[in-house]
Amino acid sequence: MGSMAAAIDDIADGFTAAQLFGQGTTYTYDDVIFLPGHIDFGAHEVDLSSHLTRTLKLATPIVSSPMDKVTEAEMAITMAMMGGMGFLHYNMTAEEQVQQAKRVKQHVPGFVTRPATLAPQSTIADFESLKATRDVRGVCITEDGQPGSRLLGVVTSRDTDFLNDRLTPLSEVMTRDLDTASESASVEQVLEQLKKSKRKLLPVVSSQGQLVRVATKATFLEEQRAPRRAATSVDSAGRLLLGAAVGTRADDRARVDALRAADAVDAVILDSSQGDSTYQLDMLAYLKKAHPELQVICGNVVTGRQARSLIDGGADALRVGMGSGSICTTQEVCAVGRGQATAVYQVSRMANARGVPTIADGGIQNSGHIVKALSLGASTVMCGSLLAGTTEAPGEYFMVDGVRVKAYRGMGSLEAMAKGSEARYHSDTQNLKIAQGVSGTVRDKGSIRNQIPFLAQAVRQGFQDMGVRSVSGAHAALKQGAVMLEARSSAAQAEGNIHDMHSFNKVRW
Ligand code: 5GP
Repeated sequence: MGSMAAAIDDIADGFTAAQLFGQGTTYTYDDVIFLPGHIDFGAHEVDLSSHLTRTLKLATPIVSSPMDKVTEAEMAITMAMMGGMGFLHYNMTAEEQVQQAKRVKQHVPGFVTRPATLAPQSTIADFESLKATRDVRGVCITEDGQPGSRLLGVVTSRDTDFLNDRLTPLSEVMTRDLDTASESASVEQVLEQLKKSKRKLLPVVSSQGQLVRVATKATFLEEQRAPRRAATSVDSAGRLLLGAAVGTRADDRARVDALRAADAVDAVILDSSQGDSTYQLDMLAYLKKAHPELQVICGNVVTGRQARSLIDGGADALRVGMGSGSICTTQEVCAVGRGQATAVYQVSRMANARGVPTIADGGIQNSGHIVKALSLGASTVMCGSLLAGTTEAPGEYFMVDGVRVKAYRGMGSLEAMAKGSEARYHSDTQNLKIAQGVSGTVRDKGSIRNQIPFLAQAVRQGFQDMGVRSVSGAHAALKQGAVMLEARSSAAQAEGNIHDMHSFNKVRW
């Protein structure tokens, strides 16, 4: 009897991360599964706040990739509003990047800072096409068709729905008798005026009548819901937090100097698929000297050895992942990389011991992958494909085979490199360009205003199942060997996905 009790007590539930990842097989997120822990708290009590870098902390541990189909000003603004942060890509001139960064820093929550505009001679057909590609409900008509010029009127569907001639100029249908708010009015005053007017949008104009920004019903309702969102990511002056990617060439030093001179970024990413290079260490040394306050994120790395070299050089965070991105062909082309779960665990083990947070970059397809990345030691995750195809991603929607899509491409695809992103892959000096990424499309996913809260709540529930109350709690449990996991066989992976259904409808929130 006694020996039987001993045998039952001798629980053998899974492996610690150190055991599982120390066996010579490289694993990615889908290969591994966490075992449940004990629940004595509600999912709403889980604290997802986490360090992005040594000094920057986010309420939502999700950031957007510096890719030209993922992060420009609109994505960066909305990511920060949702408690995460965006990193502007640098497939554009330094001047353009500074302009984008300024737009983010000048953003006033509750407003559309770059409203849709058309000229008086534009037609109803132009308005329809703007509605289809940019998800706008109304448009401001300005003298030269650009924001910043004199406001002449507003057109919404109400003005055009009953008209048949699509070539009618908007000057003939626009509402000229406008309610406008003054640039000097407070956010609260403008939103109150919008509420009273019962209109879809309220333009804010300068004393000379130029269009400055717009308050819309949608942004108004969004602000009403603000208390339910994670805390907005802001700098010490209350402006939205922002990051930007740069390269490691001589002109990239000038690029960072310009971004900092405009006081427009809080962190930069030194963007490379293989970060352990003298180019990156030299750039890091320059930045730490020239801009000591700037947080510098280095990478990408997948080994403890690469991590140590960059931490010794002064990196404020490390970006982890090589070949794990959805659009990436590095492992196939170059035979170098690592399974992403193993990479996140091994790099974070060494970096966290030195007080440097890691960013799990690439390969995040769902909330479960975020739970896994954070539980394996990452402090935040970086997403490309998950955020591509959303309203906030750059580019316009179009139809392919009856599906509404936006373009998404790797920064190492030939198309992106043709615009200048080849430095990331150390291939700028070669005549023969080798692609390390592909170009394609992703489905319309709606707005990240809906997607990010869903992801955050799903991650909280994952943490609750594991019996973990916070990101730092997950890291402590990992270090103590209190979190147990196992590798999944391919049959176990198939079982873990939906199976044996004739048809099903996967509605996620
Ligand atoms: P995703 O979230 O789509 O799986 O991966 C996005 C990440 O893939 C980016 O943050 C970046 O690190 C990486 N990436 C972006 N473009 C390319 C590319 O063309 N090739 C490779 N190897 N990686 C890329």
